[in-house]
Amino acid sequence: MITNIGIDIDGVMAHLIAGIAPFVQAEYGITVANEDCVKWNYIADRLGGVGAMLRVMDEAWAEGDIPMMEEGLPGTLKRLSHKKFHKTIISARTYPSHPHVVYWLQDHGLEYDSLVFIGLSNNPLSKFDYPIDVLIDDRPSMVEEARGYPQKFLYLYDQPWNQDAVIDPVCNPNNVQRVSSLSEAVDRILVGVYA
Ligand SMILES: [Mg+2]
Repeated sequence: MITNIGIDIDGVMAHLIAGIAPFVQAEYGITVANEDCVKWNYIADRLGGVGAMLRVMDEAWAEGDIPMMEEGLPGTLKRLSHKKFHKTIISARTYPSHPHVVYWLQDHGLEYDSLVFIGLSNNPLSKFDYPIDVLIDDRPSMVEEARGYPQKFLYLYDQPWNQDAVIDPVCNPNNVQRVSSLSEAVDRILVGVYA
């Protein structure tokens, strides 16, 4: 049986805040660091709305230098290169960034089997509606979404903006765990913690 592993991009594979920081500084005169972002919409609120945040993200993906979120990421993904795993990179994002993200994955030697881009607020679907058995994501609201998909598993990638997400042992039927890195998620996947 194949296990589909879904991996998010911004805030999981890609260090988005480091990537957008120079643009936020240049255009708004605001200094941002990862640890400042203690709410999901922290930067959007500071820039005056989600639209401004998305525009800065598009600029950073097109013209900036987005670092990888952690060391050794290509090797970490390679550890899932077994025929029983299918790696799907799944990301909700704007159209202008799509080609840049594809180049970014290629340029960093990040291997995957499928790449799925989904819409933002206009998409009524959850990432869990796609062929994903185990999702690695940093978005705090995924914890609540996972309650509707008890047969699926979420590794919540620890970030300052998801510390208030409550993993309730009653509402989340044992299908959510926090991880401090993608490497840690892969360690757990390889020993079957998601099953
Ligand atoms: Mg993300």
